[in-house]
Amino acid sequence: MAKSGISAVWHDAGKKWEMRELPVPDPDTDAISIRVRRTSVCGSDLHVWRGDGLKESDPPREPFVFGHEMMGEVAALGKGVKTDSLRRPLKEGDRVVFPYFFPCMSCYNCIRGEMGACKFRGGRKPLSEWNVCNGGFAQYYYLRTPHFIFKLPDDLSDEAAAPINCALAQVIDALHVGRVRFGDRVVIQGAGGLGVNACAVARDMGAEMVIAIDGQKPRLDLAMRSGATHAIDIGQFPTPRSRIDRVMELTQGIGADIVVEVVGFPAVVEEGVKMLRMRGTYLEVGHISPNSMASLDVQGLVANQVRFFGIQHYDPWIVKAGIDFMQRAKGKYAIADVVSHTFPLDRIDEAFRTAEWVGRSGGSKVTRAVVAP
Ligand SMILES: [Zn+2]
Ligand SMILES: [Zn+2]
Repeated sequence: MAKSGISAVWHDAGKKWEMRELPVPDPDTDAISIRVRRTSVCGSDLHVWRGDGLKESDPPREPFVFGHEMMGEVAALGKGVKTDSLRRPLKEGDRVVFPYFFPCMSCYNCIRGEMGACKFRGGRKPLSEWNVCNGGFAQYYYLRTPHFIFKLPDDLSDEAAAPINCALAQVIDALHVGRVRFGDRVVIQGAGGLGVNACAVARDMGAEMVIAIDGQKPRLDLAMRSGATHAIDIGQFPTPRSRIDRVMELTQGIGADIVVEVVGFPAVVEEGVKMLRMRGTYLEVGHISPNSMASLDVQGLVANQVRFFGIQHYDPWIVKAGIDFMQRAKGKYAIADVVSHTFPLDRIDEAFRTAEWVGRSGGSKVTRAVVAP
């Protein structure tokens, strides 16, 4: 294993990246060092990069490394690690995926098996605490214990595997919580990485109708190839009212059984809850930035008996289910084509600029940009 690796360090001040060479730590007994192969630019990374939710008065954050939607190969195993989380032998060079967060395994929620709800869940230590090469937008990632890790089958490409631990896992979890039932009508607000995956998963779970809403034609086209049955192009339906009316029209005036929000702007929620049928389920996934204040008429939610769920993180079985789904989806849903652009790490700035969709209309062909560190 290399002694050092490159991390892309983000500086809020000046809004720029720095390629920094840092030592690669040897793994502790139960840890694993991952050589990162692909990391997507997730919508939540774009929120971080834009500084969404930060106030003018907030000081710039300390320089940091981020990136979480990733896959890689085993660079080195701690002495105590012999298998993946399904007891299959694990060795250096094996391609793997893993949740990007670390449940504590010894709290109330963890002992109930709700590891995605661990309040003591950890992430990466910041550079200020541990000055090593460790991150998604870096060449190495340190999988400390307790972790979960799954070997990848050979027939899934790196590009197809990168979104499994975030975009795909997150929507599998959401639609599992929302309990899609056979014949349901599902609306997906936003057809980026999460949205396109949500179309495929909802359809696979038995939805009869999947309506994708987005402002980018290529994303909607991909959604339609990934299980969506209908597309609502914001260019053609420019107002919230017109989009709500369109959903009502498509559902014969009833409204959707389930609406999934994967955009992350509060106005989208205000619009989406009005697309539900009475007693419909709203699955809120997109908002990860602080200060995301929406204006909702709560009486309207009560009168319409809206079931509102906030979804973040997932339990480890979801990653395994995601791998299986990616294999099953081949030739059926185009979700393996979600990744449209790949950049080397030193062109990460270009990856983010390419992935940025705010302020763009119509022509962008980006569904998911990935970095290959
Ligand atoms: Zn993500
Ligand atoms: Zn816990």
